This record gives sequence, structure tokens and C-alpha cells, in this order.
Amino acid sequence: MAEELSKKALKKEKLGNCGGCNKPVKKIKRYYRGGKYYCTKRCYKNFLAKAKNKEKDGA
Ligand SMILES: [Zn+2]
Repeated sequence: MAEELSKKALKKEKLGNCGGCNKPVKKIKRYYRGGKYYCTKRCYKNFLAKAKNKEKDGA
């Protein structure tokens, strides 16, 4: 069972795209926040700003 868990964890470890600029996050300073990866703290802030704008539009 523990093995299965570690396997899942490994899969999760795969990096995706930056939540801020949408570029694939490779080895660049990974910034992990809220279940997503960002290249930098700035990208994370970018994403936050975007999310805020979306909220405004949605309402
Ligand atoms: Zn980025």
C-alpha cells in the first residue's frame, strides 16, 4: 500500500506549466503554491492578479 502511495507521489512530482506565465516549469526556481507550480514568486503574484480579474468578470 505504501508503495502505491509513493508511486502516486512520484507522478504528482511531474512539473507542469507555470500558473503565472503558462510556460513549462522545468528546473527553474520552482515556486510551489496552492497546488500549482510557478517559475518565480512574481509569476505566482501574476496568477493571483489574474484570478482576481477573473472573479470580477465572472460576477
Ligand atoms: Zn512563470
